[in-house]
Amino acid sequence: MTALISQFPKAHGLAIVLLFVTGLSLAVWPQQSRSVQIPIELPELDGLIDELTNQETVTVKEFKVASGDTLSLIFDKAGIPAQTMYRLLESKEHKRLLRAIQPGETMKFITSNQGDLEKFEYVLSPVLTESFSFTQEGVLRNTLTREPELVTRYAETIIDSSLFLSAKNAGLSEQLTMEMAQIFAWDIDFALDIRKGDRFSLIYQEKYLDGEKLGYGPILAATFINNGNDFTAIRYTNSEGETGFYSPDGHSMRKAFLRTPLDYARISSHFNPKRKHPILNKIRAHKGTDYAAPSGTPIKAAGDGKVTFAGVKGGYGKTIVLQHGQTYSTLYAHMRNFHKSIRKGKTVKQGQIIGYVGNTGLSTGPHLHYEFRVNGVHRNPVTVKLPDAQPVPEKYREDFLAHAANMQGQLAIFQANAYALLAE
Ligand SMILES: [Zn+2]
Repeated sequence: MTALISQFPKAHGLAIVLLFVTGLSLAVWPQQSRSVQIPIELPELDGLIDELTNQETVTVKEFKVASGDTLSLIFDKAGIPAQTMYRLLESKEHKRLLRAIQPGETMKFITSNQGDLEKFEYVLSPVLTESFSFTQEGVLRNTLTREPELVTRYAETIIDSSLFLSAKNAGLSEQLTMEMAQIFAWDIDFALDIRKGDRFSLIYQEKYLDGEKLGYGPILAATFINNGNDFTAIRYTNSEGETGFYSPDGHSMRKAFLRTPLDYARISSHFNPKRKHPILNKIRAHKGTDYAAPSGTPIKAAGDGKVTFAGVKGGYGKTIVLQHGQTYSTLYAHMRNFHKSIRKGKTVKQGQIIGYVGNTGLSTGPHLHYEFRVNGVHRNPVTVKLPDAQPVPEKYREDFLAHAANMQGQLAIFQANAYALLAE
């Protein structure tokens, strides 16, 4: 195991430590290892073009596709005759590919000393290039793909303000923070439960190519301490390629239902059997929870299920009812409109967008009225005990436990290193 340890500046009392680990896979990391500090070395690229240019018999011209560019415009700029371009476009497949060029992509023309086009390279992304060789036999296409290098990193953050602000100060992207929040979304309400002093740590991956960061790989393991409660999630992919996040003892981090069917919302009215109705002004049980959110906010299916109602339902306005197996059903009211995929009888997946927040029916402002029923009885959506999603299947249990123990060992080593760094 090799690691580069680097410390980021402390800001606003926020303690941040990032550790970098080289290597393609954590799975090969011995469990009893100690960390050593060495810098990350990223491989140099020996491209085809480099080889060609070294021969001094070719010229390379490179163009970045700009908005409004067409293939013929770029060929023209490169000084390549139109008939050469038509040779390229003789193939229907080439034509389809090159009709869809996008601004920001790159085109390279490699010509001989005689000025003949030998090779045309269409660089769609750092990891994908379509290369066309102009030969006697015709134009031969070759698809060149590159695998980005995965660099494993560790980050630990103590929250001193909002989750996203603290994570941002720690150098974590919004995307990564969101992914982390989604892993723990069933245990922690990130809108309401976050306290100053909460802390989280992540082992995650970043994708690099030629020393440049392309983006993020997955989170491999995470811990979150929320208000003294400790949660750990381990990413696990079984031999069938199914991936999920599980607690170290193999329970799914997911529940069969989302606690809140909206990403960002605040509760504007709680479940209350003796509420005075704001419009009717008489005692009428509030059989659900109201979430205030801007009109148009996406509403998600709380669990896997089937649409049993999608239409206007009296004072509820535009309403969807989902049935989840025999026992559970959920109701979503006052919607502005339904997602176009929603029809009675359709099945939905947990988290799938079913419609949008609105103000239809008897409603005083844009909000979602959400009901949760167990065997037909209304329950408080905020406090009802949600059933677990499927745990690690029995046949993978042993494999998972070994993986989880390894990942927990790594978390412990990183946390100890981070603690030592912070103590300095
Ligand atoms: Zn309501």
